[in-house]
This record gives sequence, structure tokens and C-alpha cells, in this order.
Amino acid sequence: MTDRMLDGVTPSGLTRRRFARRAATWVVASGAMAALAACGSKAPAKSAAKKTTKPHGATESAHGAEAGAHGAPHWDYEGVGGPDRWAELAPENAVCSAGSTQSPIDIAGTQPGLLGRTGIKWQSAPLSVVNNGHTIQADVTNGGAIEVDGVPYNLVQFHFHAPSEHTVDGKRFALETHFVHKSAKGDLAVIGVLHDMGAANAALAPLWAALPATTDERKELPSFDLARMLPQSRSMYRYAGSLTTPPCTEGVRWHVLQAPTTVSEAQVQAFNTIIKPNARPVQPLKARDLLKESL
Ligand SMILES: [Zn+2]
Repeated sequence: MTDRMLDGVTPSGLTRRRFARRAATWVVASGAMAALAACGSKAPAKSAAKKTTKPHGATESAHGAEAGAHGAPHWDYEGVGGPDRWAELAPENAVCSAGSTQSPIDIAGTQPGLLGRTGIKWQSAPLSVVNNGHTIQADVTNGGAIEVDGVPYNLVQFHFHAPSEHTVDGKRFALETHFVHKSAKGDLAVIGVLHDMGAANAALAPLWAALPATTDERKELPSFDLARMLPQSRSMYRYAGSLTTPPCTEGVRWHVLQAPTTVSEAQVQAFNTIIKPNARPVQPLKARDLLKESL
């Protein structure tokens, strides 16, 4: 699936009325999932990194100094591969700059919307947890699904950003979890949970006890209680967005839960000793509607 094919189906021109329509009007290239799976994975040609002649800044991180298959620096959250340069790193990343429905965003000025219900039906499931160099990602098998306007999306993985990527009225949170779901058609829907600094998050504890410390390290958890990660209130913000990592593919249905849960300072520190800050700056809302759903 090429970027050009994606361009034809991005929801950039959606009106409010269309936004509220059923998910069937949303089409995401199947390639988006492959891209997402690659989100955070290292550049495909690591050996190329060693051959690149591009000068590296002294302050650049070791990861940012790696080069991708195109000879350009690999994407990162700072330095030569930082977010303001993602679009230049590879042709398929063009939408990172040129897109009109990019994520994350600052959630402000929401409008009440007549939205279909987004039901969350998760269950305890085994996890395969990997440190991919950009985040800690838990691949999920049989973790359940969400239903968006009548369409089921299966949970495939979740991962973390510290600090949060979405902000609410300019407020940034200590941590954000993204639960990535995929429909039978290959469309993507993400549930975002914000975590405010406070009490230790008991639901996260078993996963935090098994954080893979080194890049590419993987650990298996026999069972993880997914539903426990949710706040009590299921009220959400909804908007049309994108992957928050290159290639920034659009057509992703975003649902950010309004109520944050907590995470302790020690838990955030444990994450930060392994993964450096990994939040893409907020992107302009442009012509999008940002809807507030109250259940
Ligand atoms: Zn994410």
C-alpha cells in the first residue's frame, strides 16, 4: 500500500457530520499496520549506520546516530533524526510534515458529539514484551477487542510514552499508554490512557517488574489483566489522527480516555532509565473536529 493510495482515504476532509458516521467510511491502508509494528523498531539496515558519512553532532544520542536504509539518520525524538526532520528522513515519511490529521494533539476546545458507543472488552492475556529502542511494547494474544460504531477492532499491542504525547488544555501527563487495535479490514483504532503522577499503578506493576532493559530484549508474561489498566469512567475524546511515529500514517481512529489513572514517580523513573523521553510534539488540529463523548 503506497502513500498515494493512503492519501485518497485519509479523513482530512471530514466534516463533523461525516466524522460521526460509521466506521465503514474509514479506510486505512493495510500497510499502516506493518508500519505501526515497525514503529519503534530499529532501522532495517543497521550495518548501513556504520557506513554513513553523515556527520553526527556530539550531543546526539547513540540511537539517533544510527542510519536508516536511506542513508539518512534513523528517526528519534531529538537531534538530527528528531520530530521536525522525520519527513526528510525517508520518502514514506512525507505525511509527517504534509499531513492534515497528525497525532498527537492538545485536547482543548472539545465539542460534545453525537457519537456511537466505543465498547471496550478486554480480558487477561499473555504478553510478549519487547524493548524496541523507542518504547516498551507489549504484544498481546487474545486480549479482546473494542467495538467502534459497531465495528470490532482486536487488540494487538500496547506501548508507552513518557511524558504523555496528548496534552489536555496544555497539561502534559507523566505517562501515556496506547492500546493499538486493528479491524478485519486493517483499520486502526487506538485507546489512549493518560497517567498522572501520583500513587503507584498496581495494574502496571507486574509488567514493570519485567521491563526488558536492553534494546531487542523480549520477556514473556503468562497473564496480564488488561481491563485493570482502564479508569473507572469510560468517557472519551475522539478524533481522526495518525501514527505518532514515522511514517505518521493517517486514518487512525483516536480515543483518549478523559479520566487519567496514576503512575508513581518511581515507576516513571524505572521507565526513563530504559527509554528516554519519547513524546512527539503536539500537532495542529487544523480542520478536525475534536469530540467529547460522555457515557
Ligand atoms: Zn504510541
